Amino acid sequence: MTETVVLLAALLALLAGLAAGKAWERYKLRGGRWIDRRRLRGSPHYILGLNHLVSNQIDLAIDELTKAAQLDRDALEIHLILGNLYRENGQVSKAIQIHQRLLQRARMTTLEHAHVLLCLGLDYRHGGFIDRAAETFSEVVRLDPRNTHALLNLEKLHEEQHEWREARVIRQRMAEAAGDEHNPRDQAILAFLENELGLQAMREQRPDQAIRHFEAATHLDVKTVPAYLNLGDVRLALGQRKEAVEAWEKIVRIVPERAYLAFSRLKDAYAGIGAPERFPDLCRRLIDTNPQDWRARLALGEHLAANGAARRGLDLLLESLLHNPHGLAIHQAIWRTLSVLAFEESVVTRYINLTRDAVFYLDPHICMRCRYRSTELLWQCPQCHEWNTFVEERIATAEESEEAPA
Ligand SMILES: [Zn+2]
Repeated sequence: MTETVVLLAALLALLAGLAAGKAWERYKLRGGRWIDRRRLRGSPHYILGLNHLVSNQIDLAIDELTKAAQLDRDALEIHLILGNLYRENGQVSKAIQIHQRLLQRARMTTLEHAHVLLCLGLDYRHGGFIDRAAETFSEVVRLDPRNTHALLNLEKLHEEQHEWREARVIRQRMAEAAGDEHNPRDQAILAFLENELGLQAMREQRPDQAIRHFEAATHLDVKTVPAYLNLGDVRLALGQRKEAVEAWEKIVRIVPERAYLAFSRLKDAYAGIGAPERFPDLCRRLIDTNPQDWRARLALGEHLAANGAARRGLDLLLESLLHNPHGLAIHQAIWRTLSVLAFEESVVTRYINLTRDAVFYLDPHICMRCRYRSTELLWQCPQCHEWNTFVEERIATAEESEEAPA
């Protein structure tokens, strides 16, 4: 993973450098002589350095590019890449030194200046100098208001410090800079930031404000699941059970694949308003609309088993297992139900036959952006810090994988 990042960062710097390369004239007066810069760029050190970069041998790439940089002290791109390589190699102070030296150059265009500052900002961020990183990225944005790279870094810095309001301002600027203020991705991120503001208000005992944030989140993006969960929680804490149920039921209606997140809340709330039957009804509706919904089967199975219908409950639990053979919660529910049925031999045999070919493994949630894996569903990825990127890896049953084309 880090290796890919290193390579990517270096290549991006290279590409950006080449783009700025118009300013990099072919011929250069040095020591009273014109030098063909294209030949310099074609020096073995430069090419060797790039080759090492591509084959991910960072130390060797640094060696060769250092030689190339000595051959041509004016070549902005080589110095930029070199600094970036040092940074990604963990030598942050060296990276800072190189990039700071570049800033002292007199003849730089505004965009080149912004680009050097961006690299320096990344150095600071990497080294944990948060304030200096924020200042530097802000300076980049001042020079180049549409620099989404700097804006994104600023946003992440604010998020890391839980400065949700500031992060929201930056995300709004990014949407404006892209000229598309209603881009669904931006709306979704703004919604998650609103949700965080709501949680903050909840912690600070300001329920009215929390409700406004959660509602704003769902207006920005109707699929912001945690905002509905939290909205219901605030409503419930205020004694507004009916409104709480309404909030949670919106998940069932709008994002049924995440309905399970509201199961225990809804189950308790239905019981609280004297309508416990609404819970199994809800599960049945979910199963009808999505036959693969193992969680609704699990919940319904457990509900039936707990209400004197162990056999019917067990049927549903075994069906649930068919769709998700590695679900620990399902196995536990089955064992509980088997014990209620006094481990009757025929049902135990059914269970054993079902599980014989199942493949077991954990962490089925995976970040679509960086492939980070997690046992839990996460709203923000701890590795790439992106919002709402987790999907549940589809685990085929043994039967299905046999049918699937190779
Ligand atoms: Zn990720």
